[in-house]
Amino acid sequence: MRLRFAPSPTGYLHVGGARTALFNWLLARAGGGDFVLRIEDTDRDRSRPEHVDAILGGLSWLGIDWDEGPVFQADGLARHRRDALRLLDAGRAYRDFTTRQDFARARDAAVAAGTGTVARLSREMAAQVPADESDRRAEAGEPFALRFLVPPGTTRWRDLVHGRLSFENAEIDDFVILRGDGTPTYNLAVVSDDAHASITHVVRGDDHISNTPKQILLYEALGRPVPAFGHLPMILGPDGKRLSKRHGARAVDAFEAQGVLPDAMVNFLALLGWSPGTGEEILSRAGLVERFSLERVLRKGAVFDPDKLFWMNGQYIARMDGDRLVAALRAALARDGVGSDRIALGEDAFRRMAAALGPRSRSFAEMARLARPYIGPLGGYDPKAARKGWYRDRVGTAELLAAVRDRLAGAGWEAEALESSLRALAAERGVGAGKVFQPLRVALTGVSASPGIFDVLLILGRKRSLARIERAVSHIEAGERSTPAG
Ligand code: GLU
Repeated sequence: MRLRFAPSPTGYLHVGGARTALFNWLLARAGGGDFVLRIEDTDRDRSRPEHVDAILGGLSWLGIDWDEGPVFQADGLARHRRDALRLLDAGRAYRDFTTRQDFARARDAAVAAGTGTVARLSREMAAQVPADESDRRAEAGEPFALRFLVPPGTTRWRDLVHGRLSFENAEIDDFVILRGDGTPTYNLAVVSDDAHASITHVVRGDDHISNTPKQILLYEALGRPVPAFGHLPMILGPDGKRLSKRHGARAVDAFEAQGVLPDAMVNFLALLGWSPGTGEEILSRAGLVERFSLERVLRKGAVFDPDKLFWMNGQYIARMDGDRLVAALRAALARDGVGSDRIALGEDAFRRMAAALGPRSRSFAEMARLARPYIGPLGGYDPKAARKGWYRDRVGTAELLAAVRDRLAGAGWEAEALESSLRALAAERGVGAGKVFQPLRVALTGVSASPGIFDVLLILGRKRSLARIERAVSHIEAGERSTPAG
């Protein structure tokens, strides 16, 4: 098998393109085939080098490697022209000297007359120019487009996803293959390139289905073997409409910036329009390569659900080992502008924090946010957390936290000693441990949800923990004087 991904560098690598690349890559890796990367940069006005970089960067981030390329389509220009001219010589294409305005006028007239011959209008107009006159005008340098002479009949193929498909050739215009300025059109360039690269399987988005009969006709006219075609279902937003800017981020690098892991993104993309049929959802790359096949690609649109992506990412984060977790969290903090000089934690405490926050985070951006109360000074207290954790009984809470401080100040700073001293305090006061832990949690972190309280104490260390409790006591007492109770 020889497969390819052929993005146009007119924008960033988006979810749809990444999914197409991934499916081709999985097929190549599963079948021991080759995967070719071709950048379709013939649209000079819309192609940009920064988009090429973004596409290559996005693929590399996803871990999708290629065996050949990147090949640049624009480099094949001379061959595209040769192929188009071969079709002219073989009588499978014709010159069209008609200007845009003349064509529009003739088309309007045909539509008004209701003659229904619009699809063959160019052919009829070209037929009015005798062959010797056409040669003379071409030789004199008059610009012309080359149009493919669509043969009669029906074009059929067995699509790898959709099964049997067919198009009536009578409905296909004699499409342009070479423009008046000598540049090839998309269909001609793609066929010339895929034939040249001996591509055996063309797997792409289903927005290309209507191009496929034209391309099959070109392969046949050029005398080249026709590859197999498979068209992947379109990707829909959660509202069932085609995925677009309205639905928020679509560029793959936006998910990278949000702290999504490449393995999670690959797993998620693989399930956009495909399923292993076993109900499994968390699949490693190797597992995907082993299970992937086009037979299990769905025909209907696939819904892109960001919640599912972040759920899946959380599953991957929860499975990461300590070293990778630490490195990924440091990178996420650095992305937020928090360098190591602004991290008040030693290596062990940082590692403990990463391990404690891992299972609570669906992305590294979220983890970096959750890490804020530990790595630097505590900002304010979340008013809701303070209301619930402290202010139901201000006097009691201030007094309780002062007792907690005294107790902890005398305890050894390791998990067991911390736990037994706090549980003993709760027991002496005849309250559940939660009644001690929750106000303490707000004092230490400023929020009502955090990792286990002993983890929090160990991450912050003795000095910072005691200082925070002290500060909370003063804060609550000051609040008692200045804020009406309730
Ligand atoms: N360059 C085309 C696109 O980005 C893809 C061409 C193809 O896969 O045949 O839509």
